[in-house]
Amino acid sequence: MSHFRSQETVDSALRMSDAGVSDRVNADVHGVAVKTIMRWRRQYQWLGLPRGQGFRGTPCPRCDGAELDESAYALLLGWYLGDGHIVAARRGVYTLQISNDQKYSNLSQEVAATMRLVKPTASPCLRGGSTATRIEVRWKHWPCVFPQHGPGRKHLRKIELADWQREIVAKYPEQLLRGLFHSDGCRFVNWATRPIVGGGIRRYEYIRYMFSNESEDIIGICTDALDQLGIPWRRPRRNAVAVSRKEGVGALDGFVGPKS
Ligand SMILES: [Zn+2]
Repeated sequence: MSHFRSQETVDSALRMSDAGVSDRVNADVHGVAVKTIMRWRRQYQWLGLPRGQGFRGTPCPRCDGAELDESAYALLLGWYLGDGHIVAARRGVYTLQISNDQKYSNLSQEVAATMRLVKPTASPCLRGGSTATRIEVRWKHWPCVFPQHGPGRKHLRKIELADWQREIVAKYPEQLLRGLFHSDGCRFVNWATRPIVGGGIRRYEYIRYMFSNESEDIIGICTDALDQLGIPWRRPRRNAVAVSRKEGVGALDGFVGPKS
């Protein structure tokens, strides 16, 4: 079921509310949750938004106090920090673009669905390239939702989470890490050999996760989340974080896993 109702439904519910109908009855009549009626009243009445002439854009969690799906947000933040860009379009609108390897269509669908949870009216556009799929949604409020937006490449400027973002990430570190590792990371299987006591050699397999990013700030956001979950990591290179200890790999397999 869609979370977004037609303007007609919203207007009808608000007229009833103006006429003194209680939220509970109003919710039953319109087949929505009481919480939804309360949100409509808040958005339209308290903020004095015009009505009957259509919504003037999707309300923003930062400017309008719209509800934010925090779990979806943490996931989208991971994707944005890893492989996302916000590009200014015309008339004060911005396009959030997230690129994903074309091979992994399930993940591209997941990114599109996550964008829809963060901006409930979005209909994401998936653009195919030769090697990458680009998932795009336009919104005036992307810079409010991702204040890391700024001129130039992410690794050439300071990337710092706002306090409200830190609070969300602290609640959903798994979601953030899923976004980070699926955008700018990989999970791969290595083979190694080990001598067997008494002679001979045994081949064994081990799995390792790697997150690569040129921004030391983004690397720090990744390792902070790993620390919060007690997942051991190391830095094999200046621009990478690796998780290869068995317990760490097991933990990441629980919420990251192979790409698909
Ligand atoms: Zn805003």
